[in-house]
Amino acid sequence: MNVKIIASLGPSSRSYDIVKEMTLYGASGFRINFTHGDREFWSQLVRAVREVEKALGKALTLITDLKGASVRLGRFPEPLTLKAGDTIKFSINKYSVQDKVVPLPNVKVVESLEEGDTIVMDDGRVWLRVTKTRGSEVEAVALTDAVIKPEKGLVVKDKEFDLPSISDKDLRDLEFACSVSADYIGLSYVRNAHDIYALKDHLRRLRCGAKIIAKVETRSAVENLNPIVEASDAVLVARGDLGMNFGLEEIPSLQTKIVNASVRKGKPVIIATQLLESMINNPIPTRAEVVDVHNAVREGVDALMLTGETAAGKYPVEAVKWLKKIALAAESGWEPKIERAGGPIKRRYAKGVTELAEDLNAKLIIYSMKGNTVNFVSSVRPRIPFYAGVPDIRVARSINILWGVVPVIVNANDYMKGLEKTYEKLKGEGAIKFGDISVLTYGLRENEQLIKIMRLV
Ligand code: PGA
Ligand code: MN
Repeated sequence: MNVKIIASLGPSSRSYDIVKEMTLYGASGFRINFTHGDREFWSQLVRAVREVEKALGKALTLITDLKGASVRLGRFPEPLTLKAGDTIKFSINKYSVQDKVVPLPNVKVVESLEEGDTIVMDDGRVWLRVTKTRGSEVEAVALTDAVIKPEKGLVVKDKEFDLPSISDKDLRDLEFACSVSADYIGLSYVRNAHDIYALKDHLRRLRCGAKIIAKVETRSAVENLNPIVEASDAVLVARGDLGMNFGLEEIPSLQTKIVNASVRKGKPVIIATQLLESMINNPIPTRAEVVDVHNAVREGVDALMLTGETAAGKYPVEAVKWLKKIALAAESGWEPKIERAGGPIKRRYAKGVTELAEDLNAKLIIYSMKGNTVNFVSSVRPRIPFYAGVPDIRVARSINILWGVVPVIVNANDYMKGLEKTYEKLKGEGAIKFGDISVLTYGLRENEQLIKIMRLV
């Protein structure tokens, strides 16, 4: 399987056993969304991932998402069931126990609400219209039957709020992420490249090596797509919030646009949300979901990310199993149609060695100290097995969610030694067999470059 699977962790997948099973069935990475839960809970999830990684001897990527400029409801004890036409009130609170009063702990948002505004919540399951505003008192009417649940995301149609891209809570969460060596930080509600640069500055200050995933989910992010892709290490098509900020019918073309913009720049791209939504309650996906996942795989994305299915669903392991099954079928007899030409010289070099290996029907083995070359090779979507030797588990984790890459950890402080050791290890594991040809190289250097071709005889 070339496409990678990422599973969001939550109450349904907090145990070592579930994480282990999801890994055995094909998950390469796990996401923790800092919007929900607390440090104690997140620590438990991180521990499960790291213990499974150790037990299985397989690098696992850890992604943690900052809340960013997204807007969420506060907490309340019970979901609120509404009939179309029912009226509710919003209060500027973190918590509410009053009936039909929904806490919205964000003064700027509540004060910007105007009569006639449309509010969408919970990935589009809830639609409300604002009917009355008096200072901080806001009333809204339900446009359909709906259930309002605590801490769900909220969007006001055609309005964006001037909220900080990284809040004080995000800074505290970021420190935690760095303390547990998260591999990627997902920034929610990115609006422009400056949001990414601001996060980069914080990472530098914290001496934190985590990479950045830009979650593309707002209208501004789509408008500023190219600079955002340029500034980020990876990109996520966050279909949940995209589908609230745009019409649902716009999602397919937005998805293709974001995927192409990312691949063209050699940036890994992930698709998330409602891939197998019905599996939150059922052990079998719907036909429509299977077709959607199949098409996403054939768009050539690096990774598919399950959200509610594995975080809060009844069948987290089955969801991973199905994703893998659909991905394998979608990849069989198919070759990615990716624009290989162009880009920086390192990418053109990656294209050249990849095509050499393809023409020889060989295996491609590269050694990479930091993972940059791996990115470029993966971005041309090699049609032959691609192994990346790396010096340590940190680099292995960071390249683990890239399309088609098999990380191999071998410690070496020069490139030729690294290649040699990687080759020997693959031979020992039986990945390279009698008669196999291998093309071995490393990222483009300044003064001298070696491409070695080996045949096991
Ligand atoms: P979320 O991101 O689960 O953090 O909201 C994914 C999405 O919006 O699709
Ligand atoms: Mn989102």
